[in-house]
Amino acid sequence: MIDYPDGFSNEWREYTMKDKDFPETIIYTDKERIACTGEANDHPRVYYTVPEVGFVVCGYCDIKFARKKPDELSG
Ligand SMILES: [Zn+2]
Repeated sequence: MIDYPDGFSNEWREYTMKDKDFPETIIYTDKERIACTGEANDHPRVYYTVPEVGFVVCGYCDIKFARKKPDELSG
């Protein structure tokens, strides 16, 4: 069992477990706004707001963007 710091919700753990069952491309960022152009720059540049909990999925290429874990931010 993994103990997440305060402020980390069950929702996040759920997503994390789903990712292990169904490996997909997921990019962790400490930025609130990201731009995606596809893994091989194969779609127009689109901007997304990364939620603090969970992730946002690019509508073009299905890449997921999620916030870095708090302990990674401070390190
Ligand atoms: Zn994309």
